[in-house]
Amino acid sequence: MPVAESLEKVTDAPFGTVFADKMAICWFRDGEWSPFEIQPIQPLQLHPYAHVLHYASSCFEGLKIHRWEDGSIHAFRLSSHIRRFQTSAELLCLPVPNAKEVEQMVLELAAECRDWVPQHPGSLYVRPTLIGTLPSIGAAAGRSHEACLFVIMSPVGAYFRGGLKPLRILIEDQHMRTSPDFGRAKAGANYASALSHILKARREYGVDQVLFAPNNDVQETGAANFFLIRDEALMTKHLDPTFLHGVTRDSLIKLAPELGYQVSERSFTTEELLAWIQNGEAALSGTAAILAGIGTFIYKGREYRAGNGEFGPNTLKLRSALLDIQKGIAPDSFNWLTRI
Ligand SMILES: *Cc1c(COP(=O)(O)O)cnc(C)c1O
Repeated sequence: MPVAESLEKVTDAPFGTVFADKMAICWFRDGEWSPFEIQPIQPLQLHPYAHVLHYASSCFEGLKIHRWEDGSIHAFRLSSHIRRFQTSAELLCLPVPNAKEVEQMVLELAAECRDWVPQHPGSLYVRPTLIGTLPSIGAAAGRSHEACLFVIMSPVGAYFRGGLKPLRILIEDQHMRTSPDFGRAKAGANYASALSHILKARREYGVDQVLFAPNNDVQETGAANFFLIRDEALMTKHLDPTFLHGVTRDSLIKLAPELGYQVSERSFTTEELLAWIQNGEAALSGTAAILAGIGTFIYKGREYRAGNGEFGPNTLKLRSALLDIQKGIAPDSFNWLTRI
């Protein structure tokens, strides 16, 4: 097993391609969950008729465990991620896992995988996953009342290698990322439905991501929430079912007032966005990148520079404030960390 210090090389690998050597797993059958087991990472035995393989009954979470200078390890906002996991399970009509049980799975597995947690800027990315395993292709319009829940953990490096690079984003006003009422499910199917739009935008405009703004309502990108930022003000869309309610988003809007920012949560249009970035900043939030500055937008074939085209100073300030809590440098005044 590697020791944390020698994980540096491992975390030079692309995000999500290095696997801690153990997983936690349990199954739902006959109306109840089996006790979970921790076992070596290994392929899953799935029936070719399994519900998930045909009808996409699958959802997941993504959270991080951080290592502090003193060597201790801490999960960030575990209970919020578990609550969202339960919401996703409900939306997919899957058996809803018990919060305490999922927490135990994550904590016990993390304790066993403690040596896999890299030093900052690396971390251990945790992926709880729930899939419908009912063997029946006749259940297209029925729930999968059998399921498998597993937790895997992947050591990851810094999201930005070799410096913070501002993102290039296409504003997409024709297509939706997913169906409007399913946006708040963290479901594989939502990624599948956004993929062709993202690949097309990359090919045609060389962008990093697509910001979905159907009916002129600015929502989010394929995998991150969207913020407009300037000195003393922060704006992001209010919570509604069209987009994924990010834990990073929630953390930033709780933290920002302490740093003197006024937070507004409301819907806004592409025109408002373009007006804001003339001398304001724009950024994406998510567990992987924390807060990533946007340098350029493409809209209806035209390029628009956001602020000075770099990671803005307020974006950097908010990003560091959140990172400092995760690193144990700033006090955890919201009780977001769980020591393992
Ligand atoms: C996971 C995810 C996010 C970010 O959520 P965090 O909890 O901040 O990591 C945003 N949008 C989508 C579509 C996601 O799947």
